[in-house]
Amino acid sequence: MGCSTAYHLMKNGCRDVVLLERAKLTSGTTWHSAAQVRQLRSNESITKLVQNSVELYSTLEDETGQATGWKQSGSLSIATNPDRLTHIRRQVSLSKAFRIDAEEISLKEAAEKWPLMRTDDLIGAVYSPSDGRVGPSDICAALIKGAKSKGLQVFEDTPVTGIRTENGRVASVQTTQNEITCETIVNCAGIWGRNIAAMIGVSAPLHACEHFYLLTEQMDSVNSPLPTLSDHDGHLYLRDEGGGLLVGCFEPKGKALNLAQIPEDFAFDLLPEDWNHIEPILTNAIHRIPELEKTGVKMLLNGPESFTPDDHFLLGESPEIRGFYLGCGMCSVGIACGGGAGRALAEWIIDGEPSMDLWPVDIRRFVPIQNTLKTLRERSPETLSLHYAVSFPGRQRQTARNLRLSPLHHRLESAGAEFAERTGWERPRWFNPDGRKIVPVLSFEKPGWHSIHAEEHRSAREAVVLFDQSTFGKLLVQGRDAESLLQRLCANDISKADHRVIYSGMLNQRGGYESDLTLMRIDNGIYFLVTGTGQPVRDRDWICKNISQEENVTVTDMTGAFAVISIAGPNSRQLLNRVSSDDFTNSGFPYYTHRIVEIGPAIVRAARLSYVGELGWELYIPSESALPVFDALREAGDDLGLKLAGIEALSSLRIERGYRAWGHEIGPGETPLEAGLEFAVDFEKPFTFLGKEALLQQKNKGISRRLVMLTVKDSKAFPQGGEPIWWNKSLVGYTTSGTFGHTLDCGVMMGYISCVDTKLKTMLETGFFEVEIACHNFPAHVSLNAP
Ligand SMILES: Cc1cc2nc3c(=O)[nH]c(=O)nc-3n(C[C@H](O)[C@H](O)[C@H](O)COP(=O)(O)OP(=O)(O)OC[C@H]3O[C@@H](n4cnc5c(N)ncnc54)[C@H](O)[C@@H]3O)c2cc1C
Repeated sequence: MGCSTAYHLMKNGCRDVVLLERAKLTSGTTWHSAAQVRQLRSNESITKLVQNSVELYSTLEDETGQATGWKQSGSLSIATNPDRLTHIRRQVSLSKAFRIDAEEISLKEAAEKWPLMRTDDLIGAVYSPSDGRVGPSDICAALIKGAKSKGLQVFEDTPVTGIRTENGRVASVQTTQNEITCETIVNCAGIWGRNIAAMIGVSAPLHACEHFYLLTEQMDSVNSPLPTLSDHDGHLYLRDEGGGLLVGCFEPKGKALNLAQIPEDFAFDLLPEDWNHIEPILTNAIHRIPELEKTGVKMLLNGPESFTPDDHFLLGESPEIRGFYLGCGMCSVGIACGGGAGRALAEWIIDGEPSMDLWPVDIRRFVPIQNTLKTLRERSPETLSLHYAVSFPGRQRQTARNLRLSPLHHRLESAGAEFAERTGWERPRWFNPDGRKIVPVLSFEKPGWHSIHAEEHRSAREAVVLFDQSTFGKLLVQGRDAESLLQRLCANDISKADHRVIYSGMLNQRGGYESDLTLMRIDNGIYFLVTGTGQPVRDRDWICKNISQEENVTVTDMTGAFAVISIAGPNSRQLLNRVSSDDFTNSGFPYYTHRIVEIGPAIVRAARLSYVGELGWELYIPSESALPVFDALREAGDDLGLKLAGIEALSSLRIERGYRAWGHEIGPGETPLEAGLEFAVDFEKPFTFLGKEALLQQKNKGISRRLVMLTVKDSKAFPQGGEPIWWNKSLVGYTTSGTFGHTLDCGVMMGYISCVDTKLKTMLETGFFEVEIACHNFPAHVSLNAP
């Protein structure tokens, strides 16, 4: 990561960069990496980063004259059960959106590509010819050669021992030999990354784990190069190496590594062998490659690698200290992603923002509580062991749970809540009715909780439901210049926020969404911003970054101070009338307004809106009053059909209704015009706002893609987002969210379609749309508005 970032900084014109290395380059994890580069991923951002790595690795030798060991040997993924087959087929489908070559092949063809492989228990295989591998040290040598030719200075045997900050910014980096004044530091210290960040109080939630592969003696039958074989059901990857095989694994129970137990001068070192630990994997390997039983083992390699709580690495500027960037916690994809991630990081440093959506790896998705040693020690081995797991929708981690609990948590738990984790919070997914505990069986099709989900969904449309949305991010923005700052950052006009709830995007220079949120003025110069559960760190950082030196504004994260209860459904007004003497009529409490009301014994701020497309209110309640409000509502709601509902229902309700979600339909790369959200942009307000120029230009030129709604009637279609959209047999885009819509009784999605060559109207009128789910095309109905 250090070599790639330095290379890209130099390539992009920086001339005053030094690379500091504690020992020798590559002496940490990189030197012993298996160094495979596989582009088929389950996530768009990571797929794009690996694709960028392939572009770099396949040309770097020509550019620098230094061998990189790049071999485009392809990769072969096999499936032994239907879920795995769906998983790899979904990856093939996603890869089409990025023009990556991958296809399902017959078992006969798979056997020809890997003659040593047992195939009688396989049910499918996928081949991707453009994947490959590198020599990990060679690729670093080439990156350094390229960077040095442009003036990079490299200092080996120069450990960083301290960092000095001034006014919340990095000021210098201290080494055993010297102190270097600098405005930017990039922490690419691998498994030591958390310790480096801790020098200045920055969170870097990563933890080392032991990571194994073994090398066999020579095998006559190995004719290199073989494609990398992914037998994820056997927790294995295999390829040729030195005339024998390299057999690596992500075992079902990983081993955390305590850094305090490795010596300070650990360089080009390995960890002790552990044959007992690896034995079940060896059995799997012999099952897949029977000839291994007769083959000697040259060495069992155990090396350290860092893992994060969600199996995605840490990239970007830390929200705590300006100028301190992270590029670490690589979760065993540091070679595959390193080229692309280094490029993205360099662009981020130079331009102040990345050129593509990097939210899945953005350091600001974490909160400090996820950085405690206890949490990381429990979670990191689970991360390792799930690395090859089937990417079912809704899969939950089991370790390091219950870090952040809503004030209503125990009430919800007693009411049967099944919880899902997000940013350390526990959020109800659904409620098991009276003692009917549903085992959350995972599936790409109808999940075990389908019927409960349906009941909650219908109750919102037909009666009334209560969602605990206390995990929403809440920011208090206050000070002399709060209003002018927010007018500059928000695309909508916030001047009437004293009684109106303002829905607005905060846009970047390109007109893309840095966030979308609702905003209320609660007193002179005091604004209450409500944002997504995963977003308060990021949003606070964005606002703070944009406060100029002359401005007087503070931004406080108030997330834990307020609970949020949402009441939604046609009976919600009646319910509120039973617990409050305030006026909730249309004229007394118009849509998108807010004010203080009494609910039972408590005083709360109510806002008339819902995220599900029904009559509804969000109640912002001081945390200490959350229980009395909850109890009062439940007691009053029984005969109105009040049901508790979870995020599965919330999600299907909002998708059916076409409500955009940040991180899905909108992000830094999507503009309000493309997303069909122009109604929330006020071009006429007497303040200019960030992104306005770009939007006006786009308005003049016309958009080249547009968000649409899609439905598929086929009962076998269970969309979840990330599926290609075809029109007239041409690939025109991919979906951003998908669900089963219980009101529509079919699959429903949102997604972008490109309309450069063909006018959108013609496309919509002609029809012939299809959505590809796991390599199967389903006819789809497409419209601009919610179905
Ligand atoms: C067995 C195994 C197999 C793997 N196979 C693959 C694979 O097939 N494909 C893939 O993509 N990835 C694979 N990986 C993961 C990949 O190798 C890593 O993600 C990657 O090498 C990490 O690179 P890095 O630059 O983040 O860390 P490192 O290579 O560890 O570099 C960090 C550097 O920081 C230096 N440093 C630390 N502290 C200081 C300090 N105080 N001052 C100065 N310098 C410091 C260290 O000396 C080190 O050189 C594998 C890993 C292992 C262990």
